[in-house]
Amino acid sequence: MARVIVDHDKCDLCGLCIELCPAYVFYISNKGVVEADSGKCIECYGCIPLCPQNAIDIIEPDP
Ligand code: SF4
Ligand code: SF4
Repeated sequence: MARVIVDHDKCDLCGLCIELCPAYVFYISNKGVVEADSGKCIECYGCIPLCPQNAIDIIEPDP
């Protein structure tokens, strides 16, 4: 399973990823930051170029 990471230092909470991820991976946590539920990710990679702050990273699992 790929791991979806949001860099909270870069993220400005624009909400685009929450709106546009087809698998509803992103959400605002109770700490008020964007988090990712990696288990839902279908690895379409759409969020990487979509994030204006370049705050999203996807870590591939080891082969
Ligand atoms: S698209 Fe990027 S900057 Fe916008 S909320 Fe998502 S992670 Fe944060
Ligand atoms: S790779 Fe696709 S499914 Fe996974 S978090 Fe990004 S937009 Fe959502």
